[in-house]
Amino acid sequence: MKVACTGGAPRNISQTYLEQAMMRAWRNNFYAIFQVSNTVFFAHFRTQEDMVSVYTRQPWAMGTDNLLLDWFDPSFDPDSSDDYKFEHIFVTIRAYGIPRNRRSLGLLADILNQVGTVSEFHIMQENNLFARHDYIWGTVKLKVINPVKDRVIVGYSDNTTGLVYLHYEKIGRICLFCGVMFHNAENCSIRNNLIAERSKSKQEQLHIPTQRFGQWIIDESYVPTKVIQSTRIAHQGSNQSGSAILSRL
Ligand SMILES: [Zn+2]
Repeated sequence: MKVACTGGAPRNISQTYLEQAMMRAWRNNFYAIFQVSNTVFFAHFRTQEDMVSVYTRQPWAMGTDNLLLDWFDPSFDPDSSDDYKFEHIFVTIRAYGIPRNRRSLGLLADILNQVGTVSEFHIMQENNLFARHDYIWGTVKLKVINPVKDRVIVGYSDNTTGLVYLHYEKIGRICLFCGVMFHNAENCSIRNNLIAERSKSKQEQLHIPTQRFGQWIIDESYVPTKVIQSTRIAHQGSNQSGSAILSRL
């Protein structure tokens, strides 16, 4: 396990702090945690089943820090543990703005595949589509270095299209400038390099924003009200199409 960090200095987390946090989160599912380096830890589980349960219920968070998990690799070298690449994380994504009468498992898979790979551990069911009025959801395996998306366009069966707003559950930090998880815009190397370039070439007029992604990716309360309303209006029987929603945004 590793404390996720893609920019700035990773927070030093002690074995005791992590162990206490995971005792609350994992309860009796694990046996012990050992610190290998500042940000890398081994977790030992009582059974294979407990281990799989913790692995598939990602993401795990301590405050705004997330943990990256990987199965133990016998070729792992503790001396170079900081170089070990934790490439993936499982994240549950909410997709807002889809009227109930247009929801389907195929549509959900299409949305999830636009961001990552649909998780084989998490079986998508009707519940994922209809348990909530405002959104549908599913779990994907995401590459840690890839930017997420704040919106995607979906095609409906009647050849209309709709714009869907995405929220990433329990991810503490996503850079609103580049879209990569586990750092903020202040620690964004892409943005900081642009600022450095700008000062070098004296292009003072070039404004570099702090935010290019919608804040709803980390805080669902920022999903525009009209997106949520469009879902509800359709739910109440209006024959509103996805393209009608798109044109109003
Ligand atoms: Zn960034």
